[in-house]
Amino acid sequence: MEVIGVIVASVAALGAIIWKVVTRKEGTTLPGITKFDPKRIPIFLTFAENMPIEVITCTRDAAKFWNSTLEHTLFTLELMPGGSTVPIMPFSGNESARRQKKAVAYVDLTLTEDRQGIKSASVKVDTDKIVNMLPVAITLVMAHEFGHVLGLEHDDEYGSIMYSKAGERGAYVTPLDKRIILSEYGLA
Ligand SMILES: [Zn+2]
Repeated sequence: MEVIGVIVASVAALGAIIWKVVTRKEGTTLPGITKFDPKRIPIFLTFAENMPIEVITCTRDAAKFWNSTLEHTLFTLELMPGGSTVPIMPFSGNESARRQKKAVAYVDLTLTEDRQGIKSASVKVDTDKIVNMLPVAITLVMAHEFGHVLGLEHDDEYGSIMYSKAGERGAYVTPLDKRIILSEYGLA
């Protein structure tokens, strides 16, 4: 009886996952996102002075990943007129804040007064932890955080760059997320 119960639960859980993926893929209307003013693209990435070189190198690759995937310059390491500036900073010295955030990196967003857009963003990195990771993993972390900077949420598609579980992400932007970014930023 117990075994059957487990199987039923597993099938139900699988059903829920498949349903979510299908609805995301086949939905006809694109879900809107909270985003930067499209006029403030490309996003200029800057680094805190003490940012390790590994993070800087991998950030460049993460920026290239988004730019080549979307075939538009969304992120840049060169200051361009009108763009938004997003600093990449180490976690603050505040130990309690640090312990609460188990992630190796996260995005700090400030929304506009009407809460319809992103006013500013910064990417916070646990520099002590991230330098022990392989470059490919650091690049995935940064690319994931840049997805949040653009306004994307987590998704349920295994292997997607915006997959919620850090260890199971791949360098893959779902067709839906691509369409959302292109449409929301007026690039389509
Ligand atoms: Zn995330």
